Amino acid sequence: MTFVATFVPTFVASGFSRTFRTFMRAVVVAALIALLPRSFHAASPITYRITIPEPQHHWMQVEAMFTDLPSQPLELRMSVSSPGRYSLHDFAKNVYDVQVVTPEGGALDVTRPDPSGWTVPRHGPTLVVRYKVFGDRVDGTYLAIDTGHLHMNMPAAFMWARGMDDRPITLTLTQPAGVARPWSAATQLHAGASPLQFTAPNLQYFIDSPVEFGPVAMRQFALSGRMFRFAAHQTGSDGDFDRLMQDVQKIVREEGAVYGEYPAYEPGYYTFLADYLPYADDDGMEHRNSTVMTSSSTIRGDRTRLLDTVAHEFFHCWNVERIRPHDLEPFDLDRPNMSGELWLAEGFTQYYGPLVLHRAGIVNTDYTRQILTGLVDLVVTSPARSIRSAVEMSRMAEFTDAGRPLDRTNWNNTVISYYPFGAAIALALDLSLRERSDNKVTLDDFMRAMWREHGKPGGTREGYVDRPYTIADAEARLAEVSDPAFARGFFGAYIQGRQTADYRRLLERAGFLLRKRDAGRAWWGDVRMDARTDGGRVTEVPMSSPAWNAGLDRDDVVTQIDRERISSEEEANAAILRHKPGDKVSFTYVDRNGASKQATMTLVENPHLEIVDAPNLTTAQRAFRESWLGSRAPR
Ligand SMILES: [Zn+2]
Repeated sequence: MTFVATFVPTFVASGFSRTFRTFMRAVVVAALIALLPRSFHAASPITYRITIPEPQHHWMQVEAMFTDLPSQPLELRMSVSSPGRYSLHDFAKNVYDVQVVTPEGGALDVTRPDPSGWTVPRHGPTLVVRYKVFGDRVDGTYLAIDTGHLHMNMPAAFMWARGMDDRPITLTLTQPAGVARPWSAATQLHAGASPLQFTAPNLQYFIDSPVEFGPVAMRQFALSGRMFRFAAHQTGSDGDFDRLMQDVQKIVREEGAVYGEYPAYEPGYYTFLADYLPYADDDGMEHRNSTVMTSSSTIRGDRTRLLDTVAHEFFHCWNVERIRPHDLEPFDLDRPNMSGELWLAEGFTQYYGPLVLHRAGIVNTDYTRQILTGLVDLVVTSPARSIRSAVEMSRMAEFTDAGRPLDRTNWNNTVISYYPFGAAIALALDLSLRERSDNKVTLDDFMRAMWREHGKPGGTREGYVDRPYTIADAEARLAEVSDPAFARGFFGAYIQGRQTADYRRLLERAGFLLRKRDAGRAWWGDVRMDARTDGGRVTEVPMSSPAWNAGLDRDDVVTQIDRERISSEEEANAAILRHKPGDKVSFTYVDRNGASKQATMTLVENPHLEIVDAPNLTTAQRAFRESWLGSRAPR
């Protein structure tokens, strides 16, 4: 790009020369221009300016200017999706008072092709759009404006123009009305001409660059030639923040050791943006060179969980931001983005978060054992595993990722989130690779292979990934670090198929015993009930459990089990526990239409699992565990 950009003015100056040589040069240059991406013709930046006249009322004024416009209708859009979120969000719902005017202020006609679009059929080369946008949710997806700060996830705030993805963007913030001390801004956007001005090379990068504008405290540190910044907006003390930073550094160091290097962060640094505020929602959202982490907890009150979010989100600066699923590249702001790879993009990240906390010495073996128990128990015992593979679960993200259906679903029986599902697959793969290579090849090697082939090559345009991966690519990378038969078998069984790995055998290598949590105890299903005076009203029955097989379902009111009156979940479970697996037990219930019914079920042994420490670890088990859970970072 640099070469062409400097060449063109020469052409403009000499293009009218009649000599053959100059003519030929003009032909060559014209051909080069024709081959250029649209960005070259459309180099005029789009500018956005934000003012916050009434922060207490949660709205801001946005003014956008588009110049050098071609004559065709201009399609202005609000996003319906947000990078890293997979459900439909309809950000246009909070936009109002939209005015489209000429630079002189004359109103232009606007049509509404759909709820997220404003189309300007006739306009001159320059056009100004002004609108108000409301936002009152502090998390990784939405917009929050109040007297404390402006917290922006860009798709929730900015109207963009279709077909102008490659234009550079300039954003100017202004101090809000009525604040005592000036606010400062933290973001992965590039620094502009003044402290409150920022730039992005194109729309993909801009929309992926959240901004925290408020009383931000900043810390920074350098590791392996990279700079890391942590911007916190929180209610605790500076001491709390400084102590948290020591653990953040350990996490960044351990995760760097997984990949062997850090990405080249385009602005020159990676930025953590944390909002630990009483009115924040709990969330974490990854971006290319930053992350937004929000919580209603304080650093002092919930340190480990906040650090788990740090570990998860930072891992994404490789896995998902650069090692990127093919289906998410580039991200389409006009529709939900479906990916069958989220078991790897999110699930493997979910596995590494707690693992890195352990490697960094932040949590102990009890903590890790409980996390692993949760993963293995869920995936082994959930009836949903027989319904959908890990790939198919990933494709449910549009519905399950912050989507709130009004109607009832049966997801309790048909969906396992790709987070724990993928994390359990990562656990199985890590232990399997270690088992077959005597710890010489591990999941870290697979992640490095993915990084080398798909992440590190980067993109010719900033904010893009040129070599995103497909599921076949991931299998090929696994074959490289193991062998093709193993890779095919693993993907066929656990990723495209619906089998579970032999966790009992795999965990035993590390001195962990997987066993029944309630061995020998009777179970009728994890039946959930609302307590009511006339019995327990059922809210959930696991598919294929004894209660399900006997015909029980939602809204049935259980009145008796084994002729004992029942009015709560606790009483029901106590009645069941007086029996043994294999016992036939009768119960009565009233269905939603008021009919009294009696049924008999055959109890089974409680299938839930737990992981416990082996009583005495062998030398081999100790070595395996140390290789797996011990620090990998260079001392
Ligand atoms: Zn994630």
